[in-house]
Amino acid sequence: MTKKSVLGEVREVQLAIELIELGARLQFLEAEVGLSRERLIRLYKELKGVSPPKGLLPFSTDWYMTWLANIHSSMFYNMYRFMLDEAAESPLQALIKSYRLYMEQIEAHGGDVVLDFTRAYTMVRFFESDMLQLSGCTRCGGQFVAHAHDNKHDYVCVLCRPPSRAGKARGPKRAEAHGGHAIENIHQANAGPAAAAGGH
Ligand SMILES: [Zn+2]
Repeated sequence: MTKKSVLGEVREVQLAIELIELGARLQFLEAEVGLSRERLIRLYKELKGVSPPKGLLPFSTDWYMTWLANIHSSMFYNMYRFMLDEAAESPLQALIKSYRLYMEQIEAHGGDVVLDFTRAYTMVRFFESDMLQLSGCTRCGGQFVAHAHDNKHDYVCVLCRPPSRAGKARGPKRAEAHGGHAIENIHQANAGPAAAAGGH
């Protein structure tokens, strides 16, 4: 920390600002940004007007399996893989760019961002530690987030087999409003995020 170049430090500050604006937690900032905890907290307070929240990071893979969460998670993770594999981004840049793209897609359709940044990067870690996998739906061919080591052979995704209560208990209109655009999006995401970003 003592002899860091001025430019190097500016880049770290820019990275921290970008991550804070996306909703990154302090634990994540400390791990990814080369600035002291004290400076990160000061930056956070200046940007957000409040202290960074305390509390534990989510640790369960089950959250990603519920109906709406699985749609959003699958959409994001397909974009992340594209950034990593096709666009050859570093893991951190792939995370930032795919999360931005995910938010843009949801907001463009007037939907709610269900997957927050912390959930998104926690999911990436779950994949890295082999707790989650992508399973191909045998009906629509889309790639969806699933528990690792689940049988892939007869997998049917949440869109092709929504739970009955998604349509009934909450009303078909509500289910349509939340799921309808996501279906469109996930097929775009599976075709490649470039299509999702630029396509009409
Ligand atoms: Zn399907």
